[in-house]
Amino acid sequence: MTHSECQAIAAEVPSWNARFQSAPPQKILAWATEQWGKHMALSCSFSGPAGMVLLDMVATIAPATAIFYIDTGLLFRETYELAARVQERYGLRIRVARPAQSVAEQAKAEEEALWSRDPERCCRLRKVLPLAEALAPYDAWVTGVRRGSASTRSATQVVEWSKKYNLVKLNPLAFWSEQDVWRYIHAHNVPYNPLLDLGYHSIGCHTCTQLPTTDDPRSGRWAGFGKTECGLHVEPA
Ligand code: SF4
Repeated sequence: MTHSECQAIAAEVPSWNARFQSAPPQKILAWATEQWGKHMALSCSFSGPAGMVLLDMVATIAPATAIFYIDTGLLFRETYELAARVQERYGLRIRVARPAQSVAEQAKAEEEALWSRDPERCCRLRKVLPLAEALAPYDAWVTGVRRGSASTRSATQVVEWSKKYNLVKLNPLAFWSEQDVWRYIHAHNVPYNPLLDLGYHSIGCHTCTQLPTTDDPRSGRWAGFGKTECGLHVEPA
């Protein structure tokens, strides 16, 4: 998109947002697929349950949507297995976005276990940059971000303009509660990450994920650091 096209679309976002504020996610996805079709992508981490709900909805309502996940090379075995199971069940082609360097190459170029010293930089190299590259061909991005999933996400809107990735960001589940998500999963027999049944709430790389230590569902991420977000959903100030 050219700069002026981006500006024109960004200017439309507040009215779209007002229109879809309390719309069911299925209606938002149906509208979005008419609007963007093949120029829309869904990123799914195969970790949280909200992403699985969206994948199920997209597979039926918006099948032209490109679907991908970021493989940092450090995901849990259960996460890789779920991605494979989902491709088979839905007959979807799910693309994989990878960092420029393998884990071994990163250890040589940076330092061993960068995540244990500088997780901000590690997330940038292994998650944020691959996401930016994967989203570059698209005009709209569907995510499973919910207001209630973290205090840092409490202002999430259904439709946003992402300055960081230069596209429209759609969060159809922004106003869904955790109960809404699980109700849908059970009603539609949607596959989900089995680590959630073991008490994990927020799942990322196995190197940076533990069982939650407090009521905060994200307390098991990056233990010992003040970090609570990998940066994928953090916009520049
Ligand atoms: S979650 Fe940890 S290992 Fe994964 S990219 Fe971020 S810092 Fe690196």
